[in-house]
Amino acid sequence: MIRIVLLGPPGSGKGTQASALGRRRSIPHIASGDLLRANVREGTELGRRARPYMDRGELVPDELILDMMSERLSQPDAQEGYVLDGFPRTVAQAEALDARLREIGRELDAVVYLRVPEEEIQRRLAGRRTCAACYAVYHVDTMPSEKEDVCDKCSGDLIRRDDEAPEVIHTRLEVYEEQTRPLLDFYRRQELLREIDGTIGVDNVVREIERLVGAAHAAAQEQKA
Ligand code: AMP
Repeated sequence: MIRIVLLGPPGSGKGTQASALGRRRSIPHIASGDLLRANVREGTELGRRARPYMDRGELVPDELILDMMSERLSQPDAQEGYVLDGFPRTVAQAEALDARLREIGRELDAVVYLRVPEEEIQRRLAGRRTCAACYAVYHVDTMPSEKEDVCDKCSGDLIRRDDEAPEVIHTRLEVYEEQTRPLLDFYRRQELLREIDGTIGVDNVVREIERLVGAAHAAAQEQKA
């Protein structure tokens, strides 16, 4: 079983790849953004507190995220592995995740960084549509739904998320540069970071992640033996 983190700027395809990888490996795909949006929709206290930050494209404060993730990661389906998407997003969050893993005597198998050029990111985010019901992600040019604005999986409405308005996208990219990019060095120092070209197509990216993660996993097992 594997524990992996997918890292990359908004629009790098983390969600799509993480979901495909989770299915192939039969491990949960845990996306902090999806968990937050579910809380917003259900009108929970967390959702109410997180929403203003999300609407502005800023990060939700670490303590709210850490409580939410700690609860999610302690659920039975997450005990034998997971793909994390959107978490950690700050060095403090990465340190908290490390501390949690140390406590239970586990470690991450790999942190996969999806590299995508800035103009490609802008194009992807502008055309992105998300299912309001099941959160499946589409793109009007590269991954359209069969019927316009209708989810292939659950027939829900496809919408443009509030935080995909151009000015909010700008903030999210800035926040990524300032607060999340430092994680690359954090994980490079731990020799966990693996880089992948995020523009080679979903199937190729998933195959490449599997290859890298498989290799990292085998190396970790060897070290233990
Ligand atoms: P995402 O779907 O991953 O792009 O997340 C959408 C929004 O949720 C982000 O712009 C943040 O406001 C918030 N968010 C998601 N994950 C985190 C996190 N790990 N730390 C702080 N804020 C987060």
